Amino acid sequence: MTEPSIFTRIRNGEIPGEIVAQTDRVFAIRDINPQAPLHVLVIPRTEQYRDVTELAAGDPALMAEMVALASRIATDHADGQYRLIFNNGARAGQSVFHVHAHVLANIEESKLVGL
Ligand code: 5GP
Repeated sequence: MTEPSIFTRIRNGEIPGEIVAQTDRVFAIRDINPQAPLHVLVIPRTEQYRDVTELAAGDPALMAEMVALASRIATDHADGQYRLIFNNGARAGQSVFHVHAHVLANIEESKLVGL
């Protein structure tokens, strides 16, 4: 048996963390180290998928549900516009191997660097 991920432990209440939104299959928490005024992680309840490549191949409907929840959060907590980032692999910045999307919003224009 592998240990539950940090996100599952937050969802189970073993580690502090506010669940800001959820559906039957997806939940969202604020990132502990925010990179934008709104920085939320959208996470499937299942730990079956390590990253977005596995998720997209294995359950595209679940991925669509994550995007829909990201959009709802951006509407409820910002102006509806957002960046959606999946880090895919350690060298791309992924540190938790329970697939999750970063939702970034209310970003200052001067900080919109990169792609
Ligand atoms: P990754 O680097 O895998 O794409 O994203 C993992 C994210 O989880 C990071 O942005 C990190 O700040 C966040 N994180 C790590 N530990 C915790 C925690 O205990 N609570 C919360 N809310 N976020 C966490």
